[in-house]
Order: sequence, then C-alpha cells, then structure tokens
Amino acid sequence: MRIAVASILQESNTFSPVMTRLEDFSPVTGEAARARHQGKLTEFGGFLNILDAAGVEAVPVCALWAITANRLVAADFARLEEMFAWALHDAGEVDGLLLAMHGAQTAEGADDVEGHILEMARTMLGPKKPIVLTLDLHANLTRAMAEHATAIVGYHTYPHVDMFETGQKAARLMLRALRGESRPAMFLRKLPLIVNAENSQSSSGPFGRLMRAAEALEAAGEAEAVSLFPVQPWMDIAEMGSAVVVVTNGDRKAAERVATDLASDWWRTREEFRVTLVAPEAAIRLAMAIDGGPVVLAESSDSTGSGSPGDSTGVLKHLVTAPLAGDAAIFLVDPGAVAKAYECGVGGTVEMSVGGCFDTLNSQPVAVRAYVRLLSDGRWTARARGYNTGIETHMGRAAVLEVGRVKILVAERSSMTVDPELFRSHGIDPVHCKIVVVKSPNGFRAAYEPIAREIFLVDTPGVSTANLGTLPWRRIARPIVPLDPETPDPRWYKA
Ligand SMILES: [Zn+2]
Repeated sequence: MRIAVASILQESNTFSPVMTRLEDFSPVTGEAARARHQGKLTEFGGFLNILDAAGVEAVPVCALWAITANRLVAADFARLEEMFAWALHDAGEVDGLLLAMHGAQTAEGADDVEGHILEMARTMLGPKKPIVLTLDLHANLTRAMAEHATAIVGYHTYPHVDMFETGQKAARLMLRALRGESRPAMFLRKLPLIVNAENSQSSSGPFGRLMRAAEALEAAGEAEAVSLFPVQPWMDIAEMGSAVVVVTNGDRKAAERVATDLASDWWRTREEFRVTLVAPEAAIRLAMAIDGGPVVLAESSDSTGSGSPGDSTGVLKHLVTAPLAGDAAIFLVDPGAVAKAYECGVGGTVEMSVGGCFDTLNSQPVAVRAYVRLLSDGRWTARARGYNTGIETHMGRAAVLEVGRVKILVAERSSMTVDPELFRSHGIDPVHCKIVVVKSPNGFRAAYEPIAREIFLVDTPGVSTANLGTLPWRRIARPIVPLDPETPDPRWYKA
C-alpha cells in the first residue's frame, strides 16, 4: 500500500488588514515535507507515525502552514492549487490520501479553500479511493468538504494540543478503510451559531461538557470519530457556522442521529458561551493588587493566531504609563520599529513610535523612549505542546525594547504568542514577569495556565474582538447567534 500525505493549513480572518501570500506558508513538497514533519507532534507527524509502524509506504506530497491573516491573494491561490496538483501527481499511483487542513481557509474569490483542494484531490484520485481529512477545531465545515472527503476528523482539544493524536486517528481510520474493516459513513450538522473563542476551552465549561459527550460516544464504539467545530468567529462568509461531524462504520442514519443529538444539546446551551471582558486599565490595576506573578492579560482582539496583525497598542498604551511594580512583557509586530532599533543598535536609546501600523482603524501608534536591549534574527522554536511544536518560526528581524519596566518584543512579522518560549528565546522569562500580555483568546492557556497567578481577558478594539456585533458583517447568512439573539430554533432541533 502507498498512501499520499499532505498538509496545507491556514486559518483566515476576513476582517484582517493583512492579506496572505503563498510565501507565508513556507511551502515545501516531496521529501522536504517528510523531513519537516518526521518525528514532530503535528498531524503530518501523526500520519507518518502510524503508517511507518504499520509498514505502509507514506508518500509525502506537500507541507504548508501560515499564520492567520486575511484571504490568500488570487494569483497565489492559483499557484497553491498548481503546486498541490503537481505534488500529488508526482506522488504517483496511491491507494489513498491523508490530508491535514485547517478548515477555515479562504482566498480571494474562494470562501472554502479546503473544498476546492479536496475537489481537486477527488478528481485526481477518482471516486473510490479514501481521502481522510483532519481539521482544526475552528474549521468552518462546508457541504463541499463533506462531499469530497471520505471521512473528517477534528481536533478534540482547545487549546490545541492533540494535532499528533488527530493525525494518528485519521491514519488508523485510513488503514481500517483500506483493509475493509471500516466503511466510513459521515454526517454533517451545521448550527446557526458562532461561538466566542474565549470561552470554548475543551477541558472545562460548556464546550468541555459537549466534548466529554463526544468522547464517550467514540469510546462506546457508537462512532469512528465524533468532531465538534465551534467555528473561527471572524469570517464574513455565506456558509458560516459551528458544526458537528460524525463518522460511523457504514451506518449513515446512526451518524445523523448522533450528530443531531449533539447539535441539539449544543444549541440548547448556547447562552453559556458568553464571555466577560475587563478594561485594560482595570486589568493592570487588578494585576498590581495581586501578590506575585505572572498575571496574564489576554488581548484576544489582537490575537495573532486569530488573524489580527499583532500591532495593537490597546494594552501597551496603558502599560507604558502605569506605575508597574515589576516587569511586563508584550509582543508587537511593527517592521518600522524594528528598523529603528537596528539603526540605533544594542545599548542605545531611541525615541520612536510603536504599534498601530497595520490596523490603523483600531489602534494608534504610541510614542516611547526605548532602550534597545537585544536584536535578533527572529527565529525561535516552539517547545510547548501545541502549534508547530519543534518547528522553527521565522518572524523576520526582531528586537527587545525596554520602556521603563515594559519589555516589548517587536518583530517584522507575526508569530503565535501562546508559547512562553517566544519570550524566553529573547531573554525574557515570563515566570519572572509581573504582567505578560498574550495575543490569544484561549490557546495560551495550555502553557500559561500552569504558571499564571491570574488571567484576565481584556477588552480592546480589534479584528478578532470577542464583541462580534462590532464587526462589519455583510456576507454571512442571517439570522445567526450571537449577532441575532432571537434566531429561531433550527428545524432539526430536538428540544
Ligand atoms: Zn483553532
């Protein structure tokens, strides 16, 4: 048996001021894709792990991952499709395809990149060969995905720490299907519901309860895979909404029943997903009143993992004027500030403005007098379990600026901020800080909850705000909760 393995992952935010280019994916094809993921805790790494152990030949197709931003520009989407088609062609005759995608990727002229890629793969492989697709928990499930994939398997964790296990699960299902032990039958149930990322952790709360129910169904053998998708909230596209996907062994009616039961349970508890936000000034005051640290301020409205540019000064402007009893650390994307720091050199002090350079609608630059502590090539390797564990991130050139007790790690390009290693790799240990600002709604909890004295979700404006009603929606199908609180019960709903 020969099985093609591929990954193409990006989450879109159609409100982001930054478009995506193909180069943002650090694309590789063929053996270079295997080299990137062999032994790594990614979906692709999980595919390889199971296929290698079973003595089945894994044929690497391509590996692409990009940080969240707005749509992939049209010309580059054409290049992406062409790259994928050639790489899959070069894989030769295969028995199936294991594909890792995000599920919320868009391009100019395409609301459903996954659907397009899957359709292309289906055309090339023919109607019979299994295509098993893994998706991020924040995928926006579409009819095209359900039509062209044989089976869909989503992450079960948020913060996401089970990419490897999800890849393993998909690869096991693929082998079972090819050996005739399973005939995957899938059902997709969409909900007219967007869920705040700040309150959809899988370990506790309302979403944790739903996830335990999904896992119990899998453990009882009721289904091959039960996946819940509280969609990435910041996409203004027509086919938008949360979803439940159930894969059974040959029984589509059972898949429909399980999906409907879970979706009904979710719909009934939709009010429990509301979040409470704190004003940044108040959060800083509260942090100062707490003994020790670090106190984590989650500025989710500027979450780099949710498509914000990472340039917000919503918290920063208060930090640089607050009387701080300890160090504060914050990450910021600002190529101009990095250039100034490089001109000045290590050990120098320079007047400059920082932040507010991409999303000029939601925040303004802040004038500071900064001491240049450190300059770097902006390369660091994620260590915490989660995104790209063990894989190097390139965020362009970077610098650490000190403004009083505020340490600003400023980079030319965006980066995930959920791993404390981002700061540690630049000489800032979050454990010894009084305040750490992360640009993430929830993903940060995996690595920060164990070390945080307290966590506050702060309320600043931005394109990944939890206040979804403040965003300029146009294309989304209405009514939908929470934009339309009076949305009627879906017709499939079982009270
Ligand atoms: Zn996600």
